[in-house]
Amino acid sequence: MKKDELIFCPLGGSGEIGMNMNLYAYGNEKNQKWIIVDMGVTFADDSIPGIDLIIPDAGFIIEKKDDLLGIILTHAHEDHIGSVAHIWPDLKCKIYATPFTAVLIQEKFKEKKIDISKYLNIVPLNAKIKLGSFEIDFVTLTHSILEPNGLSITTPLGTILHTGDWKIDPNPLIGGKIDEEKLKKIGQKGVSVMICDSTNVFDPGRAGSESDVRDSLLKIMETKSKRILVTSFASNVARMESIFFCAKKTNRSLCLVGRSMQRIYKAAKKCGYLGNLIEPIEPKDANNMSRDKILYLATGSQGEPMGAMNRIVNGVHPEVFIEEGDCVIFSSKIIPGNEKKLYQLQNLIVRNDIEIITEENAFVHVSGHPNRDDLKDMYKWVKPRCIIPVHGEHRHMKEHVAFAKEMQIPKTLLIENGDIIKILPGDKPEIIDKAPSGRLYLDGNLGVDADSRSIKDRKNLALNGYLEITLIISNNGKIKKPIISLRGIPENAEMENYIFDMEDEIFNICKTFSLSSKNQEKNLVETIKQNCRKIVKDKTGKKPFTNINIARI
Ligand SMILES: [Zn+2]
Ligand SMILES: [Zn+2]
Repeated sequence: MKKDELIFCPLGGSGEIGMNMNLYAYGNEKNQKWIIVDMGVTFADDSIPGIDLIIPDAGFIIEKKDDLLGIILTHAHEDHIGSVAHIWPDLKCKIYATPFTAVLIQEKFKEKKIDISKYLNIVPLNAKIKLGSFEIDFVTLTHSILEPNGLSITTPLGTILHTGDWKIDPNPLIGGKIDEEKLKKIGQKGVSVMICDSTNVFDPGRAGSESDVRDSLLKIMETKSKRILVTSFASNVARMESIFFCAKKTNRSLCLVGRSMQRIYKAAKKCGYLGNLIEPIEPKDANNMSRDKILYLATGSQGEPMGAMNRIVNGVHPEVFIEEGDCVIFSSKIIPGNEKKLYQLQNLIVRNDIEIITEENAFVHVSGHPNRDDLKDMYKWVKPRCIIPVHGEHRHMKEHVAFAKEMQIPKTLLIENGDIIKILPGDKPEIIDKAPSGRLYLDGNLGVDADSRSIKDRKNLALNGYLEITLIISNNGKIKKPIISLRGIPENAEMENYIFDMEDEIFNICKTFSLSSKNQEKNLVETIKQNCRKIVKDKTGKKPFTNINIARI
């Protein structure tokens, strides 16, 4: 019988930023048990109409669900937990999460009307759990959300440190500091491989501290005499607390705007965070206050169409408005790809003579991921024998490998989604096989392939418009006037004429087919489709998505 092996296989998050999903396996061919670390989503761009979320294709692990010991969640960012409620019904295994993450997970399952209580294990910070041959030790780190955990995963063959998302924040304001001592102890025992966050590997220096952002925000706000509206990621509870702090210091009331801001506020309170704060007031009450006495904290820092910021700036928010002389602070980063939406929003703001402060002109944001000096410290503490970069696009991971080599890490391995990596035993980790992996678009409630019919059809409809022709054939083989409808096709005065042209064309085509038998129906449909589509193309320049119905009476 073959010897036991420790295997790592990322199904998402390696070669992209988003959709993190990592598998570990321990055992041999006869008896191999799996765990999953994180199950995230990626947000779709505007290229696919009607698709907001993309989830990893979990088929590989679904097939092995009988040998699955559980899902462990490192922290509550959507790129780490967003697909749990979508994929879990195919796995039905135990889930392990710290309290804050667990509250948000419970909400997700509640939305899907699934009672997860029997399966969800809430583990305390710094807990140690044992799943089969895996001993998993939660390590408190710092990041841009409450309760970010690294996982020290020990097996009979050796230890892996799976960092999850992290940075070194000497003063995170809320939650524990990064547990340097524990990391050093883990390092002393020997870490075979560190699976590590690569997001900021191009950035020199350090990611910076939430407490410095707080000081800077307060200094900025002290100079303002009208309304202040701050927008940031709702999940950054330390930033939220800083805004509460600034409100108190500047004698303003605080008002939370946007569903996810309220949701995170409540979840954090439920877990015992955000104590000793001023009570936020309702937007309708904020309207009655003088402009120098109110501070808003709103969602929509990326210019999302349905985010509170967008609605406020466009004057369509039912309760909150801003006007000339007010100040908007974007206490957030511009996520690549969102520039256009965001700059459009900011242009609208400045045109209304409202001041804008962003990370481009002031110190109002720090990242939650490790810059190069942070990585250097982590390497020093953990002393891994090998670094496998994850949580990055290919360019980040490649740079991370180069950086680790420069820092004298003995071994590195560049991987991508689907790689099956033998971590131990052996001198160094190596890619030994490939698992099926990919992305599924969440279309309504269903996960579909990128080249699925629904996606193709909708793209086609969105780009080209729609032509539908219904042909009624009586049992003696005669046809009635066809019913023609067009949607999403540019119109002009000639439109009626070319509908007549199509009717004539259809009658002419029908003359060349024997309509009483069904044998030629396929050809008939195809010919009508081609010829009528061509008429629309000649008249309008658009080649519509075309559907032909034949009804026999
Ligand atoms: Zn994160
Ligand atoms: Zn992440």
